[in-house]
Amino acid sequence: MDSFDVVVIGAGAAGLFCAGVAGQRGLKVLLLDHGERIAEKIRISGGGRANFTNRDLDVRAPQRHFIGDNPNFCRSALSRYTPQQFIALVQRHGIAFHEKHKGQLFCDGPSQQIIDMLLAECAAGGVTHWQPCSVGAVSWSDDGGYAIQTGRGAVRTPRLVVATGGLSIPQIGASDFGYRIATQFGLRVITPRPALVPLTFGGEAWEPYAGLAGLALPVQIETGSKKERMAFHEDLLFTHRGLSGPAVLQISSYWKPGAPLTLDFAPGTDVAAALSEAKQRSRKRIGNELAAWVPSRLADAWVGQDAALQRPINEAADRALAALAERIARWQITPSGTEGYKKAEVTAGGVDTRDLSSQTLESKQPGLYFIGEVVDVTGWLGGYNFQWAWASAHACAQALVAQ
Ligand code: FAD
Repeated sequence: MDSFDVVVIGAGAAGLFCAGVAGQRGLKVLLLDHGERIAEKIRISGGGRANFTNRDLDVRAPQRHFIGDNPNFCRSALSRYTPQQFIALVQRHGIAFHEKHKGQLFCDGPSQQIIDMLLAECAAGGVTHWQPCSVGAVSWSDDGGYAIQTGRGAVRTPRLVVATGGLSIPQIGASDFGYRIATQFGLRVITPRPALVPLTFGGEAWEPYAGLAGLALPVQIETGSKKERMAFHEDLLFTHRGLSGPAVLQISSYWKPGAPLTLDFAPGTDVAAALSEAKQRSRKRIGNELAAWVPSRLADAWVGQDAALQRPINEAADRALAALAERIARWQITPSGTEGYKKAEVTAGGVDTRDLSSQTLESKQPGLYFIGEVVDVTGWLGGYNFQWAWASAHACAQALVAQ
């Protein structure tokens, strides 16, 4: 039976990076993945340009950009491997990049460059890479460590790193392998759920908006009651089945089924005052006045639902204008659900951080580590999820080397 110092299962962002670092520090590493193609998620990320990190991540309080049952868990790894360190690696490999929005760094060229960089790092560390290679049963014994059945025969190792990611985009190889291994060894798993995902709306209430697919506009979006309130100021996109765009993807990670979302189409404006001022000076139809705040297609959808608004603004009742102001500044809608794992960028939940060390990512089961998205740490949109993959992989690799 082949024997390795470390076996890493999952050659995505976290697994590739961990294997490369551990290999370069002298460990004999085997990296396994069942996928036909390498690191598909990196390839499709950031619209094909990989938003590989975020410059705005505050390394003194990184938990602000992450969710999980214990939001502080991610601090140790993220403060010890920073966006600047990953940027330096990207620069060493001559990969050109640019900042797009709110600290988000994207490759100028295809995201394949990041994959090639990680593969070069693995090659420099002499990593053995079996892909595609199925992974079967994993067993453990006190004296021999882990025995792993694979499509290329059984292998043995004292240290096993699980980097198999979450459930998002099953069509490119996502699986529940990591959760199953965690459960097998008695570790807890926080129920996974789709996150950074478009939200769907159904029924009669949504009918007037069904024709707005493709419409995009900036909004302030919020959900949650007082203490748990979360808000984002980002672009909203109407889709055929509901809402998407950065605003909705961000809020989806915090949204609880049955809870409403509140949207403000004119953040910072006293819309009620502006409408009553318009009533004094204008004879335009209300739909046309609304163009100051929202695209005309959305204004038409609103006005079309209410006969009291289908008139010149100077003839509108104060009550109707007050209701309209409320709709512009506090539009409340309740999603019927999400688009699910097929469209979710990440999976929230995962291996319970109470059963992992935040310093090393080792679990309560000796020699068994979990890194990347399989862990109950989920980042905001904007490069934070990759930064968690790099940082957790680095913390784990350092611990493997130190042993
Ligand atoms: P993954 O990268 O998912 O890798 C897991 C690997 O494990 C895969 O290669 C898979 O084949 C393998 N595997 C799974 N099950 C098994 C098994 N049973 N046996 C063997 N191998 C297995 N994040 C950002 O920060 N910036 C972005 O721009 C961005 N864009 C995204 C766009 C899309 C469309 C999606 C879906 C995600 C995006 N993300 C982005 C999220 C990011 O891709 C993930 O958070 C990140 O890839 C997680 O890294 P990981 O190594 O933990 O898991």
